[in-house]
Amino acid sequence: MLPIIAEVIAIGDELTTGYRLDTNSRWISQQLCDLGINVMYHSTVGDDLKANVDVFATAAERADVIVCTGGLGPTADDLTRQAIAAMAGVELLLFDDQLEHLEAFFARRGRTMAPSNKIQAHFPAGADVIPNPEGTAPGIEFKTTHTTTPATIFALPGVPAEMKQMFFATVEKKLMTITGVGSVIHHHVVRCFGSGESHIESLLPDLVKRGRDPLVGITASGGTISLRLTTRAESVERCLEKMSDTQVTIESILGDLVFGFNDDLLETVLVKQLNDATATLTIADFGLHGDVASMLLKAGGNVAGTASDGAADKLTNQEQVIAKAQSVLSESEANCALVIGNVNRSEDAIKNGKSQFWVALVCDGVEPVSESFSFCGHSATRQVIACKRVLNFLRLQQRGRNRPQSRA
Ligand code: ATP
Repeated sequence: MLPIIAEVIAIGDELTTGYRLDTNSRWISQQLCDLGINVMYHSTVGDDLKANVDVFATAAERADVIVCTGGLGPTADDLTRQAIAAMAGVELLLFDDQLEHLEAFFARRGRTMAPSNKIQAHFPAGADVIPNPEGTAPGIEFKTTHTTTPATIFALPGVPAEMKQMFFATVEKKLMTITGVGSVIHHHVVRCFGSGESHIESLLPDLVKRGRDPLVGITASGGTISLRLTTRAESVERCLEKMSDTQVTIESILGDLVFGFNDDLLETVLVKQLNDATATLTIADFGLHGDVASMLLKAGGNVAGTASDGAADKLTNQEQVIAKAQSVLSESEANCALVIGNVNRSEDAIKNGKSQFWVALVCDGVEPVSESFSFCGHSATRQVIACKRVLNFLRLQQRGRNRPQSRA
């Protein structure tokens, strides 16, 4: 079957002038991609009839599905219905039931309907109404007959909440009919840390191909790589069945890089590991401003932390952090101590790869472990990625041989 090509159109002067960010197109594209529809084009157009007609005419020739938002209101600059009618060479017709619906909408709110609202009961001849339960602007579904191949247009209001509600209530089901697949969509996210997006992608070359089912999408945020599996079928059980081979393959190839699933964060996974092992952790942080302890505390961890970036101790090598961790543990009630050494944050050090910092973990009855990490990357993300490196180190230690034992 040929891929279904879609175009997303955002309409409004406030978008083309840069006054408002077009978040609708992003959201719609994500939904369409999840449905296995290939979004090939995004267009943004101001409130001008000729420009709108041109955009719809171009879209109707190159896309099978067009989803647009905005321009369905009652004012003179709301031109979507007129543009669709003009592009298709059809009349705008008054739909009596929609006029009644609009009048009832205003009556329920004790308001008189302005004459200008009547335009919202007009639809291009041949169109179907997409109900809008919470607003005045109904949407329009229109199928072109004059184009080389038919294109289906779904015109939705610009207000994001109304647009999303109408998409889920009506448009999504129609799109599923167009794509010809089952009516349940299921996602499963595999969360990874410890390697870059391109490396992870290269480990899974056959899985991240477009058009595959289940579809596997890869995204990166603050050093965490997420693999999002999506499939559709007639039931959730069938979706799970369809996904299971892909899940097993991903987990076996990526191994320890996988730290969790769906909403898991490194810190929530680690807190669970610590709790399962009844481990308590004290952290002496000389380099990362106490952020590792904060992340664990926020995730509900049984953790005590001190941030000592300005302290006299200079912990810049392996021996120093291990010795410090041993002394912190001996003075603490906890059964594990983590020490994060000093971080050289100077741009020079970062640029020249000289910004390694040491971390040591000492737990009761277990050999100390330590590792060095680099403090690097973009200035906006290097702090959070450094904290995640430490959390990931703890996760791997906790998961493996260094499971702490209680003090005898
Ligand atoms: P209304 O009946 O409310 O006038 P409409 O279909 O005419 O609906 P617009 O007037 O174009 O929609 O937009 C209404 C509001 O929706 C805008 O002021 C803006 O807040 C929001 N909006 C419109 N388009 C977008 C978009 N692409 N992304 C995010 N928000 C948008």
